[in-house]
Amino acid sequence: MLDIVMPITTLAVLGGLLGFGLAFAAEKLKVEADPRINSIHDRLPNLDCGACGYPGCAAFAEGVVEGEVESLSQCKPANAKHKTAILEYLKKNPAEDGSYIQVKQ
Ligand code: SF4
Repeated sequence: MLDIVMPITTLAVLGGLLGFGLAFAAEKLKVEADPRINSIHDRLPNLDCGACGYPGCAAFAEGVVEGEVESLSQCKPANAKHKTAILEYLKKNPAEDGSYIQVKQ
């Protein structure tokens, strides 16, 4: 009986310790994303076509927030409504330090 109880107990303890370690690491290493990325993503055509040179709309939105994107026209499917919505959003939502993203329509 002891032959089976010891391995099961050892695995249970190891599983618990590893689970606790993973939960602790997930909390400590959590990366806070800029909430403007999701808001810009929501205002894009969301075709994930890659015509902008980014692998998808989420990456393009991240590029806008990080200041890599010079013009919203890099998104070929975006019409004036999409671009205006993004520019209006950016005007009303500066970064935490109060700076605004400079991007052309
Ligand atoms: S071109 Fe526009 S729709 Fe296509 S992936 Fe880039 S951001 Fe998305």
